[in-house]
Amino acid sequence: MSRLQILIAGGGLGGLAMAVMLERLPEHKKVDYLILERSTFLNPIGSAISLHASVIPLLKQLGIWSEIEKASKPMSHFSIKREDGSDLGTVDFAYGQLDYSFYGMVLARPDLHEILLSHVPPEKILTGKRIVSTTQDDFGVSCHCADSTIYHGDILIGADGAYSAVRQSLYKDLRAHGNLPRQDFSPIKLDQVVVVGITSPLNPLEYPMLKEDVCQFRIVLGGRDRAYTMWMVPLTDNRVAWSIGGRSDALNGSSFWSESQEEATTSFGLKAHQNSRFPDWGEAESESIEEICDYMRTKPNPFGYGTYGDLIDRTPKHLISRVMFEEKGFRTWYGGRTVLIGDACHKSVPFGGQGKPLSRMVILNTARRSGLGERYN
Ligand SMILES: Cc1cc2nc3c(=O)[nH]c(=O)nc-3n(C[C@H](O)[C@H](O)[C@H](O)COP(=O)(O)OP(=O)(O)OC[C@H]3O[C@@H](n4cnc5c(N)ncnc54)[C@H](O)[C@@H]3O)c2cc1C
Repeated sequence: MSRLQILIAGGGLGGLAMAVMLERLPEHKKVDYLILERSTFLNPIGSAISLHASVIPLLKQLGIWSEIEKASKPMSHFSIKREDGSDLGTVDFAYGQLDYSFYGMVLARPDLHEILLSHVPPEKILTGKRIVSTTQDDFGVSCHCADSTIYHGDILIGADGAYSAVRQSLYKDLRAHGNLPRQDFSPIKLDQVVVVGITSPLNPLEYPMLKEDVCQFRIVLGGRDRAYTMWMVPLTDNRVAWSIGGRSDALNGSSFWSESQEEATTSFGLKAHQNSRFPDWGEAESESIEEICDYMRTKPNPFGYGTYGDLIDRTPKHLISRVMFEEKGFRTWYGGRTVLIGDACHKSVPFGGQGKPLSRMVILNTARRSGLGERYN
């Protein structure tokens, strides 16, 4: 009997985590699978990413925990200050230890991406395959790519992110048959715009936070003229992940933040997102990244040495990217032979969001949404 053929749309963290799970199936249950990734190469970019404590048993079961643990720091606290350095408070993450026997962990997203990628055989990943639509019937499912190629399988896993083409095809079909709930019609909310980066190794004498074994997130809530949040997250190898964020209303105009704190609660005048222009991480116009960095660079860093400019200048340019953070939980996550995982069905504000829980990370989402959580937890 021929093996089950699985297509995975997207080689982000969700798609790769899924592939590692499939790699671990026992011999008699092995399936064939293929990842179709839009990018022409898998780009390990991003900033810090946190893994909720509840996902650690899954990582252990997949046999990748020791690598991840080596690259991570346990997440202990958020420490929040105003721009002038005065304290606003702390948030304790010890509950992870109490509830799950583990702290959540924090690591560089590029490191997590590399670890997952190293467990997936290269021949299982096809790059330059942008899926434009999908079709399915009783006999199988097909992915139609922008380069006119078509791939067939028995099951399709849509791990193609917030603007998932798989979801759009599936929903079109379900809607045509009156099977899509109303809440899934509404657009994705875009209210966070963030520039993120990871520095080269820094001197712990200048940034004492690097000497700590645990990872305390340092957050500054600031901006008299333009409201912003600045996050600094100490990583392994003396690196610091940082992010500068503000609210977005996907408005037009060239100014990047609204003119006052009050206004910032309703508008954040960054250039129009209008979905396809900045659909993803790292695809922003470099001028807008520079505009935001220039605005922030002279501000003193209340948690360390010098100014924010010192952090920005110690960050390799290719490790700085601008991100739109979307937020929406879709109710429908499967239909026929198609299942959606990760951001394709449950997009929430990750690292850098203003005060949103950090726990909604991909592998957990992936495991839970796809029903694997119960099996792997
Ligand atoms: C480059 C990048 C950097 C990120 N950095 C951070 C970070 O620093 N901190 C943090 O907390 N979160 C970060 N995120 C978000 C975080 O990784 C995701 O929220 C989370 O991992 C969910 O993963 P996912 O696999 O569901 O979606 P994603 O990580 O968005 O991956 C989706 C994948 O699908 C591919 N894809 C999209 N459309 C198509 C298509 N039509 N056909 C084929 N392939 C397609 C994309 O190229 C991408 O590789 C980043 C995401 C990306 C893509």
